[in-house]
Amino acid sequence: MTQSMEFIVRALPGASDEMLARYDCACGCKPNAEYQKGSEETGYEHCCCGNVHFLGLNAKAHLEEYLARRKEQGEDSDVGGYTVFETAVTAPWGESVPLAYALPSVPRPH
Ligand SMILES: [Zn+2]
Ligand SMILES: [Zn+2]
Repeated sequence: MTQSMEFIVRALPGASDEMLARYDCACGCKPNAEYQKGSEETGYEHCCCGNVHFLGLNAKAHLEEYLARRKEQGEDSDVGGYTVFETAVTAPWGESVPLAYALPSVPRPH
């Protein structure tokens, strides 16, 4: 399991205040999350293998809420729990944007 993930940051085409952060997932997917400058909304993608990442203000809190809600609904029991990591990426406009991700103990097959 990769503990330090490399995120690739891009501006969205034609939008100087919107970005995405993506990574090359071990399963073969390229999940990406979007964030708009000044927005209170976090973008996220939940990969088929179980990896989840959130981008935006309070990304870690949103991620933890999301996982807790899924757990309440009986989802994700097959992946054996999550480890949550917190980092930040630099937006195309220079701002440091929080990014949080969670990796399952037992990834699902792609
Ligand atoms: Zn994946
Ligand atoms: Zn996949």
